[in-house]
Amino acid sequence: MAESVELPSRLGILPFRNKVLLPGAIIRIRCTSPSSVKLVEQELWQREEKGLIGILPVRDAAETASVGPALSQGVGSDHGERSSRIQVGTTDPQKLDGKNQQEVIHWHTRGVAARALHLSRGVEKPSGRVTYTVVLEGLCRFSVQELSTRGTYYTARISPLEMTKADMEQVEQDPDFVSLSRQFKATAMELISVLEQKQKTGGRTKVLLETVPVHKLADIFVASFEISFEEQLCMLDSVDLKLRLSKATELVDRHLQSIRVAEKITQKVEGQLSKSQKEFLLRQQMRAIKEELGDNDDDEDDVAALERKMQTAGMPSTIWKHAQKELRRLKKMQPQQPGYNSSRAYLELLADLPWEKASEELELDLKAAKERLDHDHYGLVKVKQRIIEYLAVRKLKPDARGPVLCFVGPPGVGKTSLASSIATALGRKFMRISLGGVKDEADIRGHRRTYIGSMPGRLIDGLKRVGVCNPVMLLDEIDKTGSDVRGDPASALLEVLDPEQNKTFNDHYLNVPFDLSKVVFVATANKVQPIPPPLLDRMEVIELPGYTPEEKLRIAMGHLIPRVLDQHGLSSDFLQIPEAMVRLIIQRYTREAGVRNLERNLAALARAAAVRVAEQEQPVPLSRDVPRFASPLVENRLADGAEVEMEVIPMDENNHEISNAFKLASPLVVDEAMLEKVLGPPRFDDREAADRVATPGVSVGLVWTTFGGEVQFVEATAMVGKGELHLTGQLGDVIKESAQIALTWVRARATDLKLAAAEGINILDGRDIHIHFPAGAVPKDGPSAGVTLVTALVSLFSQKRVRADTAMTGEMTLRGLVLPVGGVKDKVLAAHRCGIKRVILPERNLKDLVEVPPAVLGSLEILLAKRMEDVLEQAFEGGCPWRQHSKL
Ligand code: ADP
Repeated sequence: MAESVELPSRLGILPFRNKVLLPGAIIRIRCTSPSSVKLVEQELWQREEKGLIGILPVRDAAETASVGPALSQGVGSDHGERSSRIQVGTTDPQKLDGKNQQEVIHWHTRGVAARALHLSRGVEKPSGRVTYTVVLEGLCRFSVQELSTRGTYYTARISPLEMTKADMEQVEQDPDFVSLSRQFKATAMELISVLEQKQKTGGRTKVLLETVPVHKLADIFVASFEISFEEQLCMLDSVDLKLRLSKATELVDRHLQSIRVAEKITQKVEGQLSKSQKEFLLRQQMRAIKEELGDNDDDEDDVAALERKMQTAGMPSTIWKHAQKELRRLKKMQPQQPGYNSSRAYLELLADLPWEKASEELELDLKAAKERLDHDHYGLVKVKQRIIEYLAVRKLKPDARGPVLCFVGPPGVGKTSLASSIATALGRKFMRISLGGVKDEADIRGHRRTYIGSMPGRLIDGLKRVGVCNPVMLLDEIDKTGSDVRGDPASALLEVLDPEQNKTFNDHYLNVPFDLSKVVFVATANKVQPIPPPLLDRMEVIELPGYTPEEKLRIAMGHLIPRVLDQHGLSSDFLQIPEAMVRLIIQRYTREAGVRNLERNLAALARAAAVRVAEQEQPVPLSRDVPRFASPLVENRLADGAEVEMEVIPMDENNHEISNAFKLASPLVVDEAMLEKVLGPPRFDDREAADRVATPGVSVGLVWTTFGGEVQFVEATAMVGKGELHLTGQLGDVIKESAQIALTWVRARATDLKLAAAEGINILDGRDIHIHFPAGAVPKDGPSAGVTLVTALVSLFSQKRVRADTAMTGEMTLRGLVLPVGGVKDKVLAAHRCGIKRVILPERNLKDLVEVPPAVLGSLEILLAKRMEDVLEQAFEGGCPWRQHSKL
C-alpha cells in the first residue's frame, strides 16, 4: 500500500482518455503511441531510481459538457494560473504527434501521481516498434499548475493535494468525519461480506479495513468496481476527506444494492429453471458419460435409426421434405416432452409405409390362375369365369382401371377366399379390412394429429402392416358401413375406389397424399341394397348364391374335410367322415346358405378325434399295427387298461387276418352316435314345418335376410275383442302395412271365400286378430310377406290347415294381384334346405328361376301365382277352402 510520497514539482504526464486512476488503484496498460512510449522510456524505464508519472484524465470532445474543473483551450489551474496556450493536433492525446486536425484537448486539472510496479519492454516484429507494458499504482492526487510539452509528451508543473499529517490529525477529531468514516466502514464491511460469500475469498479483504487509513480506503473501494467517468472524476476531485467519504459511502452502498438485486434475480431465475430443463441438463451429462464409456444406446441412436429407415422408405421428394421437417422438430425435443411420442409415431409411420415397395408381379398365367381357383373352390363356375376375365384384362393392361369387383352373397359362400385366390393368382399380398359397423369417417381417413390418441385410418394402417403398395385389398362388408354425425365413411370410400382420386388419397393423420392406385380393391357385401348408389356405381357386383345341400356335400368332401383334418394335425388315417354323415350334418345341424357352420361342425368332430388320438398315444403301449381306433368293442376294451393288447390279439383267426381287419377299421369313422355325442342332438329336422302348421292360422313364408333366404312362419290367432289388429315380431312399417292390406282383402272377400255366411257380416265381429312373426328378436320388414299373411288369415277364419310342404312369397296389392319380389333364388334355396317340396312364387318371378341350380329346381314343385286366389288354391290341401264349401 502506498505510503505518503514526496512529489516532485514537475511530472511527465500520461493522459488517460475518459478514465481516472484513483490513488490506491492498480492498472496495467500497454503503451504503443510514440508519445507515451517516449514518456515511459524517459520517465520510468531509463531512470535509475523509481520514477513517477502523472496520470491526467482527458475528456472526449463530445463530452465537453462536463462538470468540474477542466483545462480547455489551454491549460491552467483552478488557482487561476494560466500557462501558455498549447495547441495539439489530434483528438487522441496518446497520438500527440498525430495529424493536423486542429482540435482541442480537454484536460482535467487534477490528476494522480503513479509509480510503476512492473515494467516490460517489447519490440514488435517486423516493424521494430518499441512498446511498453506498465503496471501502475496510483499514489496521490495533484493539481496541475501548468502544462507544457517536452519533446513528444507533456509535462506539468504540479502541486500536491493530499493533506499533511497535522491536517489529518485535525480532521480525525471532527465528529462528522468520525461518523462518516464509521458509516463508510460499515458499508464497506457489508460489501466485503457479500462478496466473500459469493466468491468464497478468505478474510483477507477485511484486514484492509483495519490497517489502511479510511480516506485511502475510500479510493481503493471505489476503484474496485465500475462507475461512470463522471463519478470517477467526482471522486478524484473530492479532495476534502468528508466529501470523499460521503461520496465513497454512497457509491459503495449503491454497488452493494446492485449486487443484491442481481443475486435476487439469479435466485429467481434459478428457481424458474424448470424440471424439464434440469432433466435436459442431467441427460446431457448422462449422454456425455455414456459416450465416454462407449455405452451409447440411447434415444439418439433410435432417432438416427429412424432417420436411416426414413431414407430407405423411398418417399416422394415432397413428402421426404415434409418428413425431414418433422424429424428436425423431433430432434429438438426431449423424450419426456409432450408431443415427442406422437411425433415419433408419426415419423415411424412415414418410414414404415410402402411408398414404393411392391410385391413383384409374376407374369400372369391364366391357366394356372384357373387351376388355382378350381383347386380352392368347388362350383361357382360363373364367378370363376368372371374372375378369369378380370385377370385377363389385367394381364393385357396392367394399369387398367376396371371396376372394382364386389362379391355379394350370404356369409360363408366363399367371398373372402375367392378374393384371396385372386391375390395368389396375381402373386400379390392379400389384406382384409373389415368395414362392418364402421360409422365414423375417421375410421377410413384417420384422425387429425391434433387429436389425442389420433391414428391413421384403416387403409393406411393396413398398408403399413402389409408392407407393399400393391396388395389385393379386400374391403369386407362394404354394405355394413353407415353414416352418422361422425361423417360418412362411404364418401371416403368413394375417394378410395375412384381411380381418378385415389392417386392422392389423403389420410387426415398422414396429412400427405398416398398413392393407392396400385392397390387392387375387391369388396364383399351381404346385400346390394344398403350400398350407397355412388359407391355401387364404381363396383361390379358378382353374386354368389347360397349352396345346395349337394354342393355343400361336395365342398365338404373335397375341400373342408381335408382342410379341417390338416388344421388339427390329423389325416384320413385317423379320422374318416363318411358322406352320409356329412349329409346328416348338413340336414340336421346346419341350415345356412354358406358352409361356415358346416366347417365349424366338421372342426368339432376333428377336435374330438384329436383328443382321442392324443390321449391314446401315450399311456397305451399300442404297436404300430394295432389300431388305435377300431369298433366300439375294441375301443371299450382298450379303455380298460394296459393289458388290452393281450386281450385283442389272441383271437381265433391268424395274425395276418386280424391285423388286416384292424387296418381297415383303424381310422376313427364318424357315425351317428358320434355325431350326437360331439355335436349334440340334431338342431333341425324336416318335420319342423309340419309340426308348426298343425294348427289352422299358420302359414309358411320365404324371406330374404343377410344370411340368405330363410323360411318364415306367420302365425295368426283370434280372440274376443273389438275388431283390432295386433302385430308383433319386430316389424317394420312396410310389413305392418302388408298385414293391414291382407286383413282388408280377407274381410272384403269374406263371403266369396265362404268365411262369412252371408254378405254384410263382419268376420271381425267381437274379436281381435293377432299376427305374430316368430323369431321375435329379429327385425323384419318388406312387402314380400303379403301372400303369406293372407294365407294365414284365411286359414284362421276357415279353420283349415295350410299344407306343411308348401312355402310362399309375394307382395299383394289391395285388389289381390300378386307382385314380384326380390331374392327369389335365395328363397328357393332356403325352401329346399328346409325340406319344403312346393314353392308358390309370383308369376313375374319366373325369370329369376334360371339362377336357381337345376338340382334344386328338380326337387321342388314351383307354383306360379298371378292373383291371390291362385296362391290360396295351392296353399291348402285339396284347394282353397271356398271350393270345399262350394262342394258341400
Ligand atoms: P365369406 O367371405 O363369403 O363369408 P369365406 O370366404 O370366409 O366366406 O368362406 C368360408 C369358408 O368356406 C372358407 O373356409 C372357404 O374356403 C369355404 N368355402 C366357401 N365356398 C367354397 C367353395 N365353393 N369351395 C370350397 N370352399 C369354400
